Amino acid sequence: MAFATTQDMNEVASKWEAVIGLEVHVQLNTRTKLFSRTRNGDVSAAPNQSASLVDLAYPGTLPVLNQTALTHAVKFGAAIDGSIAKVCLFDRKHYFYPDLPKGYQISQYSHPIVSSGVFNLWNENGQAKAVRIRRVHLEEDAGKSIHDRLPNETVLDFNRAGTPLLEIVTEPDLRTPSEAATCLRQLHALVIWLGLCSGNLNEGAIRCDANVSLRHRGSNRYGTVCELKNLNSFKFLKRALRYEIERQVAVLSGGASVQRETRSYDPASGSTISLRPKEQQEEYRYFPDPDLPPIPISDEFTSQIKTSMPELPETVRDRFVKVYGLATDQAYRLTLEKPLAELFEATAKLCKDPQLAANWILGEVIAIRKRTQPQTPKITITATQLAQLIERVKDGTLSLNTGKELVGRLWATDLDLDEIVKTHDITQISDRDQISEWSAKVVDENQELIPKLLDGEEKLYEYFIGQVMRLSRGKANPHLVRQALERLVLADEKHCSNENDD
Ligand code: ADP
Ligand code: MG
Repeated sequence: MAFATTQDMNEVASKWEAVIGLEVHVQLNTRTKLFSRTRNGDVSAAPNQSASLVDLAYPGTLPVLNQTALTHAVKFGAAIDGSIAKVCLFDRKHYFYPDLPKGYQISQYSHPIVSSGVFNLWNENGQAKAVRIRRVHLEEDAGKSIHDRLPNETVLDFNRAGTPLLEIVTEPDLRTPSEAATCLRQLHALVIWLGLCSGNLNEGAIRCDANVSLRHRGSNRYGTVCELKNLNSFKFLKRALRYEIERQVAVLSGGASVQRETRSYDPASGSTISLRPKEQQEEYRYFPDPDLPPIPISDEFTSQIKTSMPELPETVRDRFVKVYGLATDQAYRLTLEKPLAELFEATAKLCKDPQLAANWILGEVIAIRKRTQPQTPKITITATQLAQLIERVKDGTLSLNTGKELVGRLWATDLDLDEIVKTHDITQISDRDQISEWSAKVVDENQELIPKLLDGEEKLYEYFIGQVMRLSRGKANPHLVRQALERLVLADEKHCSNENDD
């Protein structure tokens, strides 16, 4: 079900407005699980080997709250300027599912740990949009039902049971699929920045449910909402929302009404499929968990966390624009990850050229990371190495290409750039006499092309430069080569016109 033309799309867009709210589940990277001492997030464990009696809900076991998970939640609350509860309370949320050992999930219902915060989305043009955060609460994850392991059977793996999750619920303040994807991307960036989550999407470290409804443009009433479950990538979130908006437009345009239901996205077909009518809250029979006593959250505790917070990405972004003069989109990309932002700032200070530092990091450094270690986002070049490299390219000791190559050689080593340059004989040649000599040779050998060059066939210069570079085994300074060639060609022209005068 796609719109036939962009015109159709535009017509729809002028008539309908999408309203979107996200529920984002963040796996916290604590050492142990939310209510037991089992190691958390042990991806190397065999199925069911990382689940203790508490996680499996054996009779007589009792939950004990993980302090770090509580601290993480308060940290996030501070980052979105939310109001932090004075007491940490847990409720039981009842539902039956084979991978839910207790028959209920320990969650927070009536008293989420954080309420009413604001998350500022940053657009590439530097403008911010405030997305209100309705609530943020702690809850435990369930195990996994695996349907494709054995034919006609479902197997259960409880290793994930009891993993601490932070659920972030936005108000329905988002209006387009891209805006929703941007919101998820930036929440993802923020929880990694704060050190709360590995951010590894392949391991399901962040999962998102998207709620979407339509309304007539200009109306201020909300329409009936559908919930799209378990979208585990930015791309799928965007695609699922696009499809769902088109589906709802078709339903409403046909005079029917949207059913309030839970749907799932099928990446293979690119469509959303109805799973079940949406549960009402009463069906969960929430009540306070009597096994977990209320835990007071003192003002001291909260203010201690607030004072130990790292500088937030939005503050850093502003500084990169104001102090270092970066373009807003560069500042944005550099502050998606703390290590990138730190590398930028340290490099900019050392080489005293923020623009070049940004260009090198967003270009070469990111490219090499992608090539060498697609799974781990580690950056293994230091600011000192990078700043040295930038300086050597700037002062002409190294050619741009050699510089780029060297990023690869410095990667994951503690080698000193100048050492490498010395031992590998890769200094760029800027000796003008030597360069003139090579250039003259190339001009001599290609006399038949000179008239074309004089006719303004600029592209031919690249060929000439290439020939000189070959003679110099890639070491000539291309800038000086171009100058030398231009000089020689000009001299040729004068020579020719003198001949004509005779
Ligand atoms: P429930 O309690 O049934 O899960 P909530 O009202 O708590 O529903 O909202 C859950 C999520 O759905 C929130 O992210 C909220 O922003 C979003 N939401 C609520 N109403 C709408 C609506 N009409 N259209 C789009 N999203 C909505
Ligand atoms: Mg909900």
